[in-house]
Amino acid sequence: MQFKRIKDGYMLRLIKGEEIIGTLSSFVEREKIPGGFVFGLGAFKDATLGYFDAAKKEYVRNSFKEDLEFGSLTGSISYVEGKPFVHAHVVAGGADSKAYFGHLFSATISATGEFFIIPSDGLIERKPDAETGLNLLDLR
Ligand code: ZN
Repeated sequence: MQFKRIKDGYMLRLIKGEEIIGTLSSFVEREKIPGGFVFGLGAFKDATLGYFDAAKKEYVRNSFKEDLEFGSLTGSISYVEGKPFVHAHVVAGGADSKAYFGHLFSATISATGEFFIIPSDGLIERKPDAETGLNLLDLR
């Protein structure tokens, strides 16, 4: 991974073979980023995307081995029990230009990944929510 500090945050380039969520989470921890936003584009493979079934309170997972380009990764950065949590959703597609979408559990960069992180100015945390079964942003 390469990164450069810019006026409002960071630009990052993930390299072939790096897993996106793990690499971004480690970067957030190392740079002591207290929360914020992440945006990205690039190409990945071995992706696991999720859809949250609200009635069952569980994720349906779909895995894609093939190389896909992602045109939009949008995420938030927060902390759960002191550990960084990158919550990202992604739109990705292949040679037929049809798109897949989902909550990004994991994906490995297959060519390049270009990301922009905009840090918050204070700690952003998540807390368990009984109604949904998710850890939701706690912004009180
Ligand atoms: Zn999600």
